[in-house]
Amino acid sequence: MAVLWLDDVRAADIDTVGGKGASLGELTAAGLPVPPGFVVTADTYRTFIEEAGIDEELFEAMDIDPEDSKALAAAHERAHELITETELPEEVREEILEAYRSVGDGEAFVAVRSSATAEDLPDASFAGQQETFLNVQAEKLVERVKECWASLFSQRAIYYRTRQGFSHDKVDIAVVVQQMVDAEKSGVMFTSHPSTGEPRIIIEAAWGLGEAVVSGSVSPDNYVVDRDSASVQEETLADKKLMMIKDSETGETSTVDVPDEKRTERVLSDDEIERLVELGCEVEDHYETPQDVEWAIYDGEVYMLQSRPITTISGSDGVEVATDGDGVDATTLSSNGNSGQKQSSSDGDTLLHGLGASPGIVSGEARIVTKLDQLDKVSEGDIIVTEMTMPDMVPAMKRAAGIVTDEGGMTSHAAIVSRELGVPAVVGTGSATRELSDGQVITIDGDKGTIQEGQKAKKEEQHEPVEEVRPKTPVKPMTATEVKVNVSIPEAAERAAATGADGVGLLRIEHMVLSLGKTPQKYIADNGEKAYVDELVEGIRGVADEFYPRAVRVRTLDAPTDEFRQLEGGDGEPNEHNPMLGYRGIRRSLDTPEAFAHELEAFRRLWEMGYDNVELMLPLVNDAEDVYRAVQLMREAGIDPEKRTWGVMIETPASALSVRELAEAGIDFASFGTNDLTQYTLAVDRNNENVADRFDELHPAVLELIGSTIETCRELGVKTSICGQAGSKPQMVQFLVNKGITSISANIDAVRDVQHEVKRVEQKLMLDSVR
Ligand code: PEP
Ligand code: MG
Repeated sequence: MAVLWLDDVRAADIDTVGGKGASLGELTAAGLPVPPGFVVTADTYRTFIEEAGIDEELFEAMDIDPEDSKALAAAHERAHELITETELPEEVREEILEAYRSVGDGEAFVAVRSSATAEDLPDASFAGQQETFLNVQAEKLVERVKECWASLFSQRAIYYRTRQGFSHDKVDIAVVVQQMVDAEKSGVMFTSHPSTGEPRIIIEAAWGLGEAVVSGSVSPDNYVVDRDSASVQEETLADKKLMMIKDSETGETSTVDVPDEKRTERVLSDDEIERLVELGCEVEDHYETPQDVEWAIYDGEVYMLQSRPITTISGSDGVEVATDGDGVDATTLSSNGNSGQKQSSSDGDTLLHGLGASPGIVSGEARIVTKLDQLDKVSEGDIIVTEMTMPDMVPAMKRAAGIVTDEGGMTSHAAIVSRELGVPAVVGTGSATRELSDGQVITIDGDKGTIQEGQKAKKEEQHEPVEEVRPKTPVKPMTATEVKVNVSIPEAAERAAATGADGVGLLRIEHMVLSLGKTPQKYIADNGEKAYVDELVEGIRGVADEFYPRAVRVRTLDAPTDEFRQLEGGDGEPNEHNPMLGYRGIRRSLDTPEAFAHELEAFRRLWEMGYDNVELMLPLVNDAEDVYRAVQLMREAGIDPEKRTWGVMIETPASALSVRELAEAGIDFASFGTNDLTQYTLAVDRNNENVADRFDELHPAVLELIGSTIETCRELGVKTSICGQAGSKPQMVQFLVNKGITSISANIDAVRDVQHEVKRVEQKLMLDSVR
């Protein structure tokens, strides 16, 4: 059988129908109104290549050097040719078309979507590469299915599998064929409050197809509904200027003006809201965890297009929010109070506790890494266990299924990078490198911060590729306060941009520099000044391109000497007792102006190339004197500070207390680096797990410094922002929006929730002002 109907598919069929197919099947089986459709199974693809005898040639064509871009392109083309130009056996073709004729009226427009089985492929960049086609009818259907198959061999997919030593013939692909809903109204729904977990359902709705809401080109109505009574508690009706509709003849989508009388009209009737609430409760009951649902209404019927879990993590100091996972993985990827019950969470075999630094649950073999030269032993799917991660470890961290450290807190390198990579991590266990052994199979829970003995997460369930589980362009609530995203590793830029963030609030260039493997001095000695500046320009340009025209705030170098010491050439670095208080940030830049000049040269070149979205940010300043000196160096580097947007980080109490003088020195913005501001205000080392419970970014003293700085900046017309980790916490968001901050920059995984939280606080402010 080449096809399986969604009615007959369950979550357990993931090997046959892939993640997407299994998720839709599970929803259908739960009695939820999913548009009808079927899946061309993974076996069909496999049988096709084997029986046509193209399999050997296909996989042989993949035997290339992935760094050779010509060879890569040729491999992709050969695979595409082999798959799309080989005839599909008549009986398979007929079976697919026969199934199609049973969908809708027999001539329905359908969506054709790849659904990779992914097996134990943990790499984030894999699944997102596969094709989806909308508005397909009979004549193109089989061709489109084959193109989905061929998309298994996109250049990027080949590159990643080859680089990671993953064999190309271990991957299969199913294809979902599903009736399109010609939506009259559409939107999203959170079945519980995304930040607080309260039993309130939040619905956003607009006219026409969901794409208008998703792309942010229209702001939707917002309804907050009590789950028990289905009564609307708060509603904000937006002025909906545009809508997307589908031409019923051609299937083409176009954007049109909303007729005047409908612009400010409420999109949903009470009955429709009631129906949505009913469905929201059903889907949440089914998965036993709050869901983020995409829905559409056609001809009075509500359809569910997708459902994913919302994860609400309770931290020691309150509630932190992240969303993750695809519907089918609701029980595995996310772990909040509800889904946690589904894990085998008996504490009996918990070996160690630490801080849950990057969400997700994974099992794998522990690889104890104590020296950098041991990184080679980390293969795909292993769990790195190390004292503390270093920038050189990033390539191995990308291969790993999980990360465990002895040392470090929530703002340590390991925590920041693993969150950006979407790799589950537990940091600050104290003794993992001593208590775990090489090759021991363990399960780590990056939410709860536990490490258990043995394999607890099922292979196919763990660490679903990130692009697969997060929407490419998530629904973006319109907020007056901008919501941006932090990026530390340029490879994360695409994921970061896909969040729909209003720009990058912090691009740390340390990782670009440290990933060269040499200190800047050594790199320049070996390769010349131009090569070093080129590296910076290219690294920054990748992110600036991804976000253009949205602003990207690039911070000049701020690497503590202990990180530089690990690199080739690092012997010359000072050996400091407390690198956090030492030779880093602007102090080092001002002390070594010739080194700083290379960074400034990179900025100058980017601006000259037309990247006017690049902004410059100075780290760890204490007072206006630091700024005047930096401005002087900018001028010497050929930059006119008047013409560019630049500012400082507020990371020390001194800078917060001297913000008036900083404003006089000409800054355009001040951005709170709460990781450092907290450590310097409370005298708590941010990387020391022994005092992690004292690292409180919401401490009244820290809030006092932030609050008064925002007030002064508002008075002086200086923009304010936050780019420390605390910007991802709901309580901090509430505090900052109430104080009137200009923008908030969050971690990639928290952007969407921060957008919703900001919107909620803004609405409350507006309501309070009219009441
Ligand atoms: C901060 O200090 O909050 C910050 C964002 O900078 P970093 O974490 O790189 O020190
Ligand atoms: Mg800092």
